[in-house]
Amino acid sequence: MTAQAGDVPPLLSLYDGKPCPYCADPMDPAKGRKPTRDHIKPKSRGGSLADGNRAIVCERCNGDKKNKHIEGFLLKLLRKGDARAPHVAAFIINNREAVYE
Ligand SMILES: [Zn+2]
Repeated sequence: MTAQAGDVPPLLSLYDGKPCPYCADPMDPAKGRKPTRDHIKPKSRGGSLADGNRAIVCERCNGDKKNKHIEGFLLKLLRKGDARAPHVAAFIINNREAVYE
């Protein structure tokens, strides 16, 4: 799911330069990696709108994850041998309560 213009709060810019939790690269608008809000468990799959279900991730990862649950995203990365897989696996482990709410 890509963030729509208009629903990105200005505060997201505070995350510029911080590492994306899904790929570990710095979130950098100049490189197509602007910070965006992801719903860990997608709204379309019953995920809540609560803060606990949100992660700030780069637009590349958000676009690749789309409306998948984060576990489905991890499986996709593992199948492709994508270098982001270990970061996403660590994110799931460190955010168990949000992932399995
Ligand atoms: Zn990322």
